Order: sequence, then structure tokens, then C-alpha cells
Amino acid sequence: MWIDLQFDRDELKIRTVQGSAGGKLAMTCQRCLEPVEIDVEAKFNLAIAPTEEHAKNLPKYYDPLIVEGDELELLTMVEEELILTLPIVPYHDDCSIQTSFGEEVTDTSTDTDSDKTNPFSVLATLKGGKLD
Ligand SMILES: [Zn+2]
Repeated sequence: MWIDLQFDRDELKIRTVQGSAGGKLAMTCQRCLEPVEIDVEAKFNLAIAPTEEHAKNLPKYYDPLIVEGDELELLTMVEEELILTLPIVPYHDDCSIQTSFGEEVTDTSTDTDSDKTNPFSVLATLKGGKLD
């Protein structure tokens, strides 16, 4: 998981957040029910607005990010953007396990706990971004 964001002010004094974030997320293949790593990447070209009203006046080439107060919920923002890029139905390009007649494959060695691991937990190592 990587995050590369630049916080800046443009020539119009608009606070911007630009960059990208991504990584590999462990999901379950909906074809063979084995784990599959999904590459996710989100690009950011955001302008920070304190209210919806301000957001409407931002240049159209920015995506508005409404931030009330000075605290930006950066991790939440990154997480939400990445979730939006996730496939609705994840599957391998080429499943390694084939079922000849469509019967279910039961693999008791699969660690079901892995499903509960928050794939974004690594983001917690980054403290919430603070704007100047
Ligand atoms: Zn598969």
C-alpha cells in the first residue's frame, strides 16, 4: 500500500491535494473462491472547500473535497476513494483452480480470519493529514 499526496496552494490560493494511492488488496475470487490480489489505484486532484457552497465555486478541473474545520480526514478520504475503485465482482484473470463439473471446492486449510483483516490497516500508520 502506498500513498503519494502533495498538499499545495494553487495560484488562486485554493488548497489542493494531488497525487495517488494504491496497493494490492486481498479479496475472494468469485469464480473459484480462492484469495485473489486486486490492484487498486486512485488518483487525486482535489480542491479543499469548507462548505458545499464554496465547493460549487471551485474550478471544474478539481474534485471538491469538503473539509469542515482544519482537520482533514485523510485516511478516510483515501480509503473511500480506493473502495470506489474496487471491482464489484473480483476474480482471477485465470483461475488456477478449475472445477470440472462446477462442484464446490472446499478447502479447510483456508484461514477464514483473513477475511476480517482490514486491508486498510496499513494506512493507520499514517496519522491524519493536517492542513496548514
Ligand atoms: Zn479464481
